[in-house]
Amino acid sequence: MQLPEVELNIYNKNNPVEAKIVENRIVSKESSPNYVRHITFDVSGTDLVGRVCVGQSIGVMPPGEDEKGRPHKMRLYSVSSPSGGENGNPALISTTVKRTIEEYEGKIYLGVASNYLADLKPGDSVMLAGPSGKRFLLPEKKESYNYLFFATGTGIAPFRGMMLDLIRSGCSGSVALLFGCSYRTDLLYPDLFGEMEKDHPNVHYLTAVSREDRRADGSKKYVQTLLEDQRDLLQPILEQDNTLIYICGLKGMETGIYRELLRMGLPGYLEWKKDAPEPESLESTLKTLTDSELKKQIRTTERVFEEVY
Ligand SMILES: Cc1cc2nc3c(=O)[nH]c(=O)nc-3n(C[C@H](O)[C@H](O)[C@H](O)COP(=O)(O)OP(=O)(O)OC[C@H]3O[C@@H](n4cnc5c(N)ncnc54)[C@H](O)[C@@H]3O)c2cc1C
Repeated sequence: MQLPEVELNIYNKNNPVEAKIVENRIVSKESSPNYVRHITFDVSGTDLVGRVCVGQSIGVMPPGEDEKGRPHKMRLYSVSSPSGGENGNPALISTTVKRTIEEYEGKIYLGVASNYLADLKPGDSVMLAGPSGKRFLLPEKKESYNYLFFATGTGIAPFRGMMLDLIRSGCSGSVALLFGCSYRTDLLYPDLFGEMEKDHPNVHYLTAVSREDRRADGSKKYVQTLLEDQRDLLQPILEQDNTLIYICGLKGMETGIYRELLRMGLPGYLEWKKDAPEPESLESTLKTLTDSELKKQIRTTERVFEEVY
């Protein structure tokens, strides 16, 4: 499988470029205290036009200084527009940003860059760098594969653009998006993915709402439990040699997915670094190993792509 050659760091943190905001809207359907926004930058007149690929990230330079008087550090945001640009305009690049808010010892802390971005209005300027990332990409012949996209939270960002790319390319392989969030109000772009599924029989939109949905045995639903609950749909896709897995979102989500894939006995996605456990002892091995131990003992193959943060 060949990945496309992409450009890197056309601009960097010491040499950022000015872009204008053209759109900044909430992407959940119902009101949610987790404010996630679709933000589109107009990069007209810069060297970023047509040179940023979905799967890459862009750097945002928040203005101002930290408590030590140093300029705020650059933060990365995944591109959520398709590779030809938002609405087919190569000068428009989007991302999907969640306001980060933390309470610590009775004080509220607002994340610097995410809240700066979320407050921007159309016409405002923002300094960008990038793009970065050369591995979390769709392959060259993207229409020749099947895809399982696992996302939690803003991990949905690259999959919005990738799925728009795949549909435009006429991909007829199976494309399944497995999205996990805590509450139904936190489903991101639900109308877009619902419509994709309705209009394209090869597209599947599966959700796991962990604090609301329950599985048949009463336990909570997560992205990885969809592999078991939707086995009739997903196993035949995973058994094909031309299926790729992409994982994006909260750091740690990948190990739950590895465990389910190992239970499903699918070769091609994960390899044990030393001897694989006998099938009859697999379950006890998985129960014994902590997530970090499991990660040390297996490696993903070239058919698995990860971006967790
Ligand atoms: C490859 C990559 C892609 C990414 N893509 C996306 C994306 O598409 N969308 C997205 O939303 N994010 C994405 N991120 C995460 C993003 O880069 C930022 O890390 C995130 O937005 C938080 O940045 P911030 O400046 O808002 O928060 P920061 O200012 O960096 O703060 C981080 C957290 O700490 C809390 N905090 C700050 N100060 C204190 C304190 N003194 N005590 C206690 N808590 C405190 C803040 O409230 C916040 O929750 C990505 C990251 C990577 C590495």
